[in-house]
Amino acid sequence: MPDQSADLSDLRDQLVAANHILVAHRVLDAFGHVSARVDEDSFLISRNLAPGSVTADDLQLHHLAGGVDSAERPYLETHIHAEIYRARPDVRAIVHSHSASILPFGLTDTAFVPVMHMASFLGDAVPVYDQRDAVGDGTDLLVTDEARGRALATTLGDRTLVLMRGHGSTAVGGSIPEVTFRAIYAETNASVLLATLPLGSPVALSPAESSTATASIGGQIARAWNVWRSAID
Ligand SMILES: [Zn+2]
Repeated sequence: MPDQSADLSDLRDQLVAANHILVAHRVLDAFGHVSARVDEDSFLISRNLAPGSVTADDLQLHHLAGGVDSAERPYLETHIHAEIYRARPDVRAIVHSHSASILPFGLTDTAFVPVMHMASFLGDAVPVYDQRDAVGDGTDLLVTDEARGRALATTLGDRTLVLMRGHGSTAVGGSIPEVTFRAIYAETNASVLLATLPLGSPVALSPAESSTATASIGGQIARAWNVWRSAID
């Protein structure tokens, strides 16, 4: 019988590392969060703490049916994670970020498209969640209840990333290394797009290029993860 406690220990270890890697890459700062699915009913995420300060002891187990195995205050936006895990059984890790380069693409009609092979996972133009459309005007823009979380998950659909107007973005993946890779290269793709737009109309990857590049680059994620991980140890 497999040793599930060892698997959970590895997951906790990876989740702490992802918090620190994403701070080092300026995807997260004092805010934002990373989570990892444990099974069909539960996920791990830190208590309400700046990502750079997260240790294994700060991780809480949240149940999709409701309930947290900790008395410590959770993040206000834990609903982002709960509702995406509920809607997307294939998702095993999530990063929610306020990173600066991506934000402009949630504010304008300029589509957030992949313009480099490392961001091919973005596919076609990335969807934008506008909380006013979902629950009306006058919110604090934060996803602080189930209804907002469900609306965000609906906008995400089957994609890898959703922009959040005036707030940030949320990336999903099949593992902690994969979602870390996606969050970092989404931010890099945004920087490249911002540098390109003043020069002229960018040429995005075609759907066929995105598909082919995603299949080949998917095999390289461990290499990036190992480098990033060794830099924060
Ligand atoms: Zn947020």
